Amino acid sequence: MLKQKITPQELDIARKKWNECKNVVIVTHTSPDGDAIGSSLALYEYLKRKGKNVTVIVPNYFPDFLHWMKDADKIIMFDRQKSLSYSILKMADLICCLDFNEISRIDDLGVAVMRTKCDRLLIDHHLHPNHQQFRHIISHPEASSTCELVFRIINSLGDMDKLTLAGAEDLYAGMATDTGFFSYNSNDPDIFLIISELLKKGIDKDLINRKIQNNYSADRLKLIGYVLYEKLQVFPDLHASLIYIKKEELSQFHYLKGDMEGIVNMPLQIKGHKLSILLREDTERPLIRVSTRSVDDLACNEFCAQFYNGGGHKNASGGTLECSMEKAVELTMKALEMWRDKLADAPVPASNEVEQETSKQEEK
Ligand code: 5GP
Ligand code: MN
Repeated sequence: MLKQKITPQELDIARKKWNECKNVVIVTHTSPDGDAIGSSLALYEYLKRKGKNVTVIVPNYFPDFLHWMKDADKIIMFDRQKSLSYSILKMADLICCLDFNEISRIDDLGVAVMRTKCDRLLIDHHLHPNHQQFRHIISHPEASSTCELVFRIINSLGDMDKLTLAGAEDLYAGMATDTGFFSYNSNDPDIFLIISELLKKGIDKDLINRKIQNNYSADRLKLIGYVLYEKLQVFPDLHASLIYIKKEELSQFHYLKGDMEGIVNMPLQIKGHKLSILLREDTERPLIRVSTRSVDDLACNEFCAQFYNGGGHKNASGGTLECSMEKAVELTMKALEMWRDKLADAPVPASNEVEQETSKQEEK
């Protein structure tokens, strides 16, 4: 039995909205990841089964390793198909917003979404959803993924018969990718009960893992080699590291979107490492994209909020900077210094203090 996470009120909203609607649009965050695409397509499958007219619109391109999902080719990319997106949004009587907490996370698609008059229903697991921007909110930051929430809602509605095999594959993919294949943020026993239900639906989890993880070019492997050998700077006293990479470097490896996926996690393999920072020049816009990862109580979302106009989850977050790479690196070095207290080990007391401490203990 799963714990009851979705409240009765949340369930009533989902039931009511999904029964009433006819034309639904599902939107998710910029540079969609496995959870974004997985939750969107799983909800798409479910609402289709309920007889609804459904469209998924994403702000921009998503990586090749997610294109195997059923109907991934029907997803509309807003930056490439603006007028089609506008006409579909105009017809919508419900917009489901998945895996983001704030309209700015969907870039220009947000402007189009905010112009519509229909209700927006948010389903998400990021902290601090913006209550002004969504009429209805189902927000559970304690959940592993938005896919977990979509499963829970469908399950609690008693609609497991409408969760298709394709929908189950999508949900598995999102739960797996948002937890690093169940290596972080995944100690809730419910997660494995859910996976068990998805397996009963017939998913081949081993095959999905391979489709996601073994779907890169040889260039990507060479890029990883280059990044780790040439670009990784480790600050052992701070248990932190920085990688920064420019557009010209990426183009040497025929960079495709998604090729940097997972690289920011790698420095955490260093014993005792607490914080990994990756700065990457965006290939489309004059921006530096920031990705950070941390362990345990070190909150990299606070680091991103303080220094990179960003946020995210406690141990996986990001942000952006509008400046040169040189300035971004300079800022990062200052930021690390400002966080020295949180990162470095507590100073060892001077030896005479230790001696005094020991003699005091001995006196007792
Ligand atoms: P990634 O490093 O995989 O690009 O992003 C990790 C997480 O950081 C995302 O799931 C998202 O929660 C958060 N994130 C990434 N970029 C931004 C950003 O620009 N602003 C905010 N608020 N969160 C971000
Ligand atoms: Mn997510």
